[in-house]
Amino acid sequence: MTLATLYMPKSLLIVLLIFVFTISAISVSNDGDPVAKTMEDFSGYPTSESESCSSGSLSSLSVDTQSLQRQIEELSSFSDSPAPSVTRILYSKKDVLARSYIKKLMQLAGLSIREDVVGNIFGKWEGFNSELAGVATGSHVDAIPYSGKYDGVVGVLGAIEAINVLRRSGFRPERSLEIIFFTSEEPTRFGISCLGSRLLAGSEPLASALKNTVDSHNISFFEAARSAGYAQDQDDLTSVFLKKGFYSAFVELHIEQGPILEEEGISIGVVTAIAAPASIKVDFEGNGGHAGAVLMPQRNDAGLAAAELALAVEQHVLESGSIDTVGTVGILDLHPGAINSIPSKSHLEIDTRDIDETRRNNVIEKIHQSAVKVTKNRKVQLSEFKIVNQDPPAASDESIIKAMEDASKELNLTHKLMISRAYHDSLFMARVSPMGMIFIPCYKGYSHKPEEFASIEDIANGVKVLALTLAKLSLG
Ligand SMILES: [Zn+2]
Repeated sequence: MTLATLYMPKSLLIVLLIFVFTISAISVSNDGDPVAKTMEDFSGYPTSESESCSSGSLSSLSVDTQSLQRQIEELSSFSDSPAPSVTRILYSKKDVLARSYIKKLMQLAGLSIREDVVGNIFGKWEGFNSELAGVATGSHVDAIPYSGKYDGVVGVLGAIEAINVLRRSGFRPERSLEIIFFTSEEPTRFGISCLGSRLLAGSEPLASALKNTVDSHNISFFEAARSAGYAQDQDDLTSVFLKKGFYSAFVELHIEQGPILEEEGISIGVVTAIAAPASIKVDFEGNGGHAGAVLMPQRNDAGLAAAELALAVEQHVLESGSIDTVGTVGILDLHPGAINSIPSKSHLEIDTRDIDETRRNNVIEKIHQSAVKVTKNRKVQLSEFKIVNQDPPAASDESIIKAMEDASKELNLTHKLMISRAYHDSLFMARVSPMGMIFIPCYKGYSHKPEEFASIEDIANGVKVLALTLAKLSLG
């Protein structure tokens, strides 16, 4: 970085940066897909995709694909299950090794590192105007049992490489750029997804619930955290909370975990909104009885009550009027579970999601009404109807969407505006910062299994879009 570039106008710096990346052009065309049209109505943004006329091949001088690929392989070796699967559970030995590995890479990238009491790790590249709020990026590297090596990892290793790309190009940020390694995006150990980002977003209920949370081996959250070197002298987690506006922007790079980009041959997904889930637990109780002796008019079958409610969930979701409303009964247990015994108890767990919170909440209300109705039809009791979580969806920030779109165009990469139907740390970061997400294609949309795969070319494209987006946002 020379003095000359320091005092160069921002616009010229960006132009220079773009020139380093690519010199090709792009053209945009629309399609008349009715599904895309529906998506457009609900997403609030046009969803027609760009199609590149050119090959779109990117300059090889920017992303160090060999190192990045090697890092992905090395990180995947910190696993409690054999390759190609990856199992990396919060605060386990392998998780601690992965954390050291990431911190080492952050150091090599010249970032200054800090960690909070639950182990969210921050690597900062100080901007030349440190009074301005910084721009953050990041993701997670914990992995559910027998999953793959790209979920989350692309957004952490890719972010470090994006910083390296920017450094090599001679860029210097005005706002500080910060990489966040989020603790426990996956709910595997303590049943809480996005634990680190929920706390960063200031979740008081979570901060107090964690005081009494244990894992399946009865190890408390704090005992586990201390074994990994965190929360040493304190069980007050409010120090993790970030003030609203602490960051001026947060952008997460992630594999799509769905098939759309690969099927349509598009390089970059620009996420406009993240659908948010709600989950519900329901218990019915009847009298049970002998499958031969109790005649049909005398029965109050808790199993059939559950079956009726499962069908009602599907009906309410389909009646919402939007393709974006989904509902799933993923768990249905019957008690006592014998072929010759009428179920006396049943237990259902229901997941329902939408990008429209009111519509999603209407579905929850209708499911509740149906549960009550079923008790009358079947003469059973509704012993529990518990809404476990009911998170609001999040919309991406328009200026970040524009930055991501502009970056894609300037890099000559095809892109598409899309909704994230899975949720990510970004959903919670959106509560304290303007948010955006960049998706890259992954093989058949596979995720959370060993077959999960993203090509290094697609990852490199994502890294370049991330780097350019961060550059744009850091000069705001
Ligand atoms: Zn993830």
